[in-house]
Amino acid sequence: MDLNLDSILKLELEALDRAHLRRTLHATSGSSETFHNFAANDYLGLSRHPALIEASRSATSQYGTGAGASRLVTGTNSGVLALEEELAAWKEKEAALVFGSGYAAALGTIPAVVGRGDVVILDKLAHACLIDAARLSGATVRVFPHNSIEKLEALLRKITAANIENKSRILIVTESLFSMDGDMAPLREIIDVKELYGAWLLVDEAHATGVYGATGAGLLGDSGLSGRVEMIMGTLSKALGSVGGYVAGSRTLVDWLTNRARSFVFSTALPPGVIAASRAAIEVSRSSEGMGLRDQLRQNIAHFKEGLTAAWKEKARSTSAIQPLICGEAATALQLAAKLREQGFLVPAIRYPTVPRHAARLRVTLSAAHSRDEIEALNRALA
Ligand SMILES: *Cc1c(COP(=O)(O)O)cnc(C)c1O
Repeated sequence: MDLNLDSILKLELEALDRAHLRRTLHATSGSSETFHNFAANDYLGLSRHPALIEASRSATSQYGTGAGASRLVTGTNSGVLALEEELAAWKEKEAALVFGSGYAAALGTIPAVVGRGDVVILDKLAHACLIDAARLSGATVRVFPHNSIEKLEALLRKITAANIENKSRILIVTESLFSMDGDMAPLREIIDVKELYGAWLLVDEAHATGVYGATGAGLLGDSGLSGRVEMIMGTLSKALGSVGGYVAGSRTLVDWLTNRARSFVFSTALPPGVIAASRAAIEVSRSSEGMGLRDQLRQNIAHFKEGLTAAWKEKARSTSAIQPLICGEAATALQLAAKLREQGFLVPAIRYPTVPRHAARLRVTLSAAHSRDEIEALNRALA
């Protein structure tokens, strides 16, 4: 048996190839003008907004390109504290903490609040960072079928019956808008049952932030439910056009995470330019311009759906900017994505393990920045 690292990895890569599950990187930079990008999560087109670019440029000129160290070591750039206050106010929570990415926010937060002897209950379709964080915490991990309140409640009943002395903490984790299916969690029902059973709830608003609610605060934003959710997390990297993650909650939660979230404590702070761009993004999102962009996005989604052929329409059930077109097998999705690419459209084929086996799909994401012509051209290509 050849124990050389590369020999072993080559065999494994060949197996991925055979299953049509191998991933490779394609250069698009410099050519992003020539591709019609229906792959990005830049739902409002903010990553190219002049206000974000100028804020980033100006903060970079003033403070430099890097933060230099973690915030506990070098101290905190005042822009970060302002961003956290703005996030907290927007999300209707007392406080917020910014991390290097959404992934890092999940990985830092969940293991800081639950551990061995506790239980994390995940929606079946929860994002990889939520699954990884739950596993890392050492808590027992349970999964309920996607959006099934009955199964969630059955799990809660079973877990609480065994938890007579209330020694175990129970944390439910879900997304508000699901990243690969574009559908929404029944948040009100989840909150009702979690309160009934004394569990806590973390809601990941990664794909809803900027996009839903009068000011773009997310699906919890306008619902009046934020106060009943212990932890609201999300990313600055999707509709907000920048990079970074955050958790919003009580002041006490944020004080605790500042001490115990390892991906916060032991990781370098985000660069000043990124922080400034994120603040500008929130400002745009909360303004009437943001409202206009959300309107435009909704019109673009409707236009895309109307222009689909009957066969695709059948598959396009989502009402959000995330439009999964399920193809089934990975090979089919890859072939279709390659054909679209030849015609100048960037639409990713999403395969296992990102989505379940035999549920491979094209994932079309719409943006307020798309033109009607572009959307119609994509519809023609799909036809
Ligand atoms: C993208 C995503 C994340 C991770 O955010 P990053 O800032 O890209 O690390 C977390 N949760 C969900 C649901 C996501 O889609």
